[in-house]
Amino acid sequence: MDEFGIIARYFAPLAKDPGALRLKDDAAFISPRPGFDLVITTDQIAADTDFFPHDPPATVAKKALRVNLSDLAAKGAAPEYYLLNLALPSVREEWLADFAAGLGEDQREFGISLLGGDTSATEGPLSISITAMGFVPQGRMVKRAGAKPGDAVYVTGTIGDSAGGLAIFKREKHHLSDAQRDYLTRRYQVPEPPVMFGARSLRDLASASIDVSDGLASDLGHLADASRVRIEVDAEAIPRSEALRALWGDGVDAILRAATAGDDYQIAFTAPPGLSGPFTRIGMARVGEGGTLTFKGEQIAIPRPGYRHF
Ligand code: ADP
Ligand code: MG
Repeated sequence: MDEFGIIARYFAPLAKDPGALRLKDDAAFISPRPGFDLVITTDQIAADTDFFPHDPPATVAKKALRVNLSDLAAKGAAPEYYLLNLALPSVREEWLADFAAGLGEDQREFGISLLGGDTSATEGPLSISITAMGFVPQGRMVKRAGAKPGDAVYVTGTIGDSAGGLAIFKREKHHLSDAQRDYLTRRYQVPEPPVMFGARSLRDLASASIDVSDGLASDLGHLADASRVRIEVDAEAIPRSEALRALWGDGVDAILRAATAGDDYQIAFTAPPGLSGPFTRIGMARVGEGGTLTFKGEQIAIPRPGYRHF
């Protein structure tokens, strides 16, 4: 099967928007929406780096998509469209069918549709690059800049689950129940970005926001830099799942590991203190620069705040 066959069989059925022209043209079109800004983001995942080559194709598809949806959510945008670039070491139809089925499931879950893409062969590892788009009311994209001294720092979901799952896949010893183990490994394979919260609530609460993908400590550092504030985080307030605590415990090393590992795809944001919702308060923005992490009243050094590709 050549790339035209692949596109027609597996991807055209996912391209339901009229502007995608059933993937039979050179490009797709979308009409500008008066009063809205188009928010665009792209992320690539590759076998051996971001997923295991033998992971189920449907979970690989969902991870490729969701690592982008978390960026849109962090900007206050509802996802609507995406483009899909595939570099395939070989054509395995069974793999492609399951991969497309995984995309189809997430299209229904998140109300998005495929606009186009590119399909090519590679001598390197399988890699998937997705570009996702969504809209926000004009001027309302939530930026990394905008935090003010006196704002509280919040984070959605739990931190470190994916890193725990990866540790289990890498055969780190543990005494978890099957359910705890499956919960963590599942978080590594299929992130759960707060898409609804991002699209519906974040814009009205947050002064600044960032997608937590390279490690909470590192990403909060980026937010602090962009906003020109100092961020103080209470390590014990960082939300961790019951399964992750069963895996690593509650010591300073466990928290540091969770806060620097990455692959969380949650949202960290600043907003007035005293808010409640599907998020946890973990610290404060202050006058100054950089960040501090405090554990039981003592400041702790962060050797490597986050994941770096190079
Ligand atoms: P071109 O030669 O102009 O790049 P292609 O043959 O690559 O055109 O693509 C034809 C159509 O198929 C285009 O609409 C393109 O967006 C779509 N397409 C190609 N690969 C993919 C893919 N992996 N996912 C979605 N659409 C794709
Ligand atoms: Mg092409």
